[in-house]
Amino acid sequence: MIARQLTYFSAREKDGGHRCDIEAGMAKLLGARVAWSNADNALQVHGGNGYAEEYQISRVLCDARILSIFEGAAEIQAQVIARGLLSGARG
Ligand SMILES: Cc1cc2nc3c(=O)[nH]c(=O)nc-3n(C[C@H](O)[C@H](O)[C@H](O)COP(=O)(O)OP(=O)(O)OC[C@H]3O[C@@H](n4cnc5c(N)ncnc54)[C@H](O)[C@@H]3O)c2cc1C
Repeated sequence: MIARQLTYFSAREKDGGHRCDIEAGMAKLLGARVAWSNADNALQVHGGNGYAEEYQISRVLCDARILSIFEGAAEIQAQVIARGLLSGARG
């Protein structure tokens, strides 16, 4: 829910010609973490079968993992957020 609100807020700011580095970084970082956590929980429900490539959930877990790497790795997003907050920039 919060990730979605951050995403829409960032999109509106961007459409309005404003910077939204902090909020966009938060949306990406949180969204990736939530996706990973949910995929991990979903695989757990499947037990050992979930690990097998024959089950789609193993692919979902793999796809969820890359969200913390591409389009701005998690560590980089965290740096963008921290730098923005410490500098007092709104975003
Ligand atoms: C499936 C897939 C599709 C992709 N599609 C595209 C695409 O369409 N266009 C495109 O341009 N690129 C694309 N990429 C590349 C992707 O953007 C990079 O993999 C990503 O930016 C990470 O860079 P890297 O792999 O060189 O890892 P690195 O930059 O070497 O990072 C490795 C690790 O070190 C951490 N790290 C790096 N620098 C710092 C730092 N200063 N402080 C703290 N931690 C740090 C990272 O967070 C990461 O955990 C794609 C990658 C994949 C896997």
